[in-house]
Amino acid sequence: MQGLREKCGIFGVFAPGEDVARLTFFGLHALQHRGQESAGIATTDGRKLNIFAEMGLVAQVFDEDTLAGLPGHAAIGHTRYSTTGSSVQCNAQPFLIKGALGELAIAHNGNVVNADVMRVDLESRGTRFETTTDTEVLGHLLAEAAPSNWQDGFTTMMRRAVGAYSLVILSKEALYAVRDPLGIRPLCIGRLNGHGWVFASETCALDHLGADFVREVAPGEVVRVDEHGLTSTFPLGDPAADQALCLFEFIYFARPDSKLDGQLLHPVRMRMGARLSEEHPVDADLVIGVPDSATAAAIGYAAASGIPYAEGLVKNRYVGRTFIQPDQRLRERGVQLKYNPLREVIQGKRVIVVDDSIVRGTTTPRVVKMLRDAGATEVHMRITSPPITHPCFYGVDMATRGELIAANMDVDAIRDHIGADSLGYLSLEATVDATGLGGGRHCTACFSGVYPSEVPLQFDKFALESEASRPDHEIPMVAAAPATVPLTAR
Ligand code: SF4
Repeated sequence: MQGLREKCGIFGVFAPGEDVARLTFFGLHALQHRGQESAGIATTDGRKLNIFAEMGLVAQVFDEDTLAGLPGHAAIGHTRYSTTGSSVQCNAQPFLIKGALGELAIAHNGNVVNADVMRVDLESRGTRFETTTDTEVLGHLLAEAAPSNWQDGFTTMMRRAVGAYSLVILSKEALYAVRDPLGIRPLCIGRLNGHGWVFASETCALDHLGADFVREVAPGEVVRVDEHGLTSTFPLGDPAADQALCLFEFIYFARPDSKLDGQLLHPVRMRMGARLSEEHPVDADLVIGVPDSATAAAIGYAAASGIPYAEGLVKNRYVGRTFIQPDQRLRERGVQLKYNPLREVIQGKRVIVVDDSIVRGTTTPRVVKMLRDAGATEVHMRITSPPITHPCFYGVDMATRGELIAANMDVDAIRDHIGADSLGYLSLEATVDATGLGGGRHCTACFSGVYPSEVPLQFDKFALESEASRPDHEIPMVAAAPATVPLTAR
C-alpha cells in the first residue's frame, strides 16, 4: 500500500489503582500504525487534568519521567496523522478545553466535514481557538453547549457535527467514549483485570494489555465511565439502523490481528485474496504480496488458485515515511529504501503481485520495475480493492480527485502506466462480501462515490487555517447519497 495515510489512533482507560499513563502508553504503541506524527496522553486524578503531547512516535515522546508526571486513575491517549490542520506541535492531541462544566481533554479519530462552518459560528460568539483542527471545534461545541450537564452538550455536538468522529473525552470526574451516528471510524470497549474499562480504536490494543473485548461502541452512542461504572446513552435517539464503517479499515488500515464488527481481519483479507483469484485468474509460477498489508490477501490468492505463495519482497520495517519525506532524492528512492526483492525467488518466474490499492499510481510502477529488474519474466498486478475514484472526507489523507489515477484512467491505461503484464481489481461486491458483514454496513465512498453524509465539493485539510475559514469562503456542500442507496446519514 502506498499513498494512503492512516488517520489517528485513540485510547482511553478508567482503572483506579493501575498505572493508567503506562497502560495508555502501551495502548498507543499498539495503535502506532494509525498515526506517526504526534502522540499525547491526558490523565485525571479527580482534582485536575494532566497532559503531555509532543511531535513524534509514541516511544520517542514518552519516557519514565513524562509518564511519572501523569498521575491519576483515568487517562486518554492519541497518536496522530493530520487529516485536518498542519502537522505542528499545537495540533498534537489530546487538547485541553475549558468550558462551563470545567476542563476537558479530547482526542479524536476521523474528520468532521462541516468544522469550518461551526468554527466561524463559534468565533462569532467569542470562542478563541488555539489550534487549526476540527477536534478543537468539537471540543468547544461540547464545552459551550453543556451549560448544565454533559448530556445536553453531547446532544448539541452530535446534532451539529457532520462526518466521522470517534472520540475519547476526559473530565476530572469521568471518561467518555463517543462514536458518530454512522460509526465511520471504529471504537471498541474492553474490560481490564475485572475492574477497569478500556476504549481503543482497535481490538489489538486490548489484546496487548490483556483486556477482554466487551463490544464495539455503537454508532451514535455516548459511553460514560466513572466510579459508579459504565452507562450508555444515545443522544440522537435509538441506535442507528444505518452504519457506514470505513471499508478501507478492512482492506488496509486496521491491523490484521484486530477485529472489526466481530470479524478478525486476517481471514477477511485472505477471503479478499481468494475472491481476487476467482475474479482475475492468470497462469503464473508464484504469488507474492506487497508486505505487510497485502500478505494475508496474497496467501488467500495462492491457496484459492493453487499457485505457490512465496515471500518475494522483504520490507525494511524501520524506514518510516518521516525519514523518507524531507529529501526529494531520498523520496524518489523511497521504494528501494522500503522494499528489497528476493532475486533468488523471483528470477525467471511469472509473478502475481497482490497489493491492497493503487492511489496516485506513483509507487506501483517502481515496484513492478523492481521485480522485473530482479528477473521476473512476467508481473501480474492484483489489487484487493476496487479502483479508488473519489476522495475521502472522513479522515483518510488520500488525494484530491485529480490526483487519483483511477479517477482519470481506465484499468487498461493504468496497467500500461504501471508497466504490468496484467492488472485486476477486486469488485466492490466481492470486497464487501469478504468482510462477512453483508451490504449496507460500510462506507464505500472512495470506490463508489456514494457518500453516507453531506460532504464539501472539495476537501481542503488546511481549511481551518486559511481564507476558507472566513464566512465568505464557506466551502460548498453536496448532499448525502440519494435515498435509493443503502447508506444514509441520520
Ligand atoms: S471514503 Fe473510503 S477511506 Fe474514507 S471512510 Fe469511506 S471507505 Fe473509508
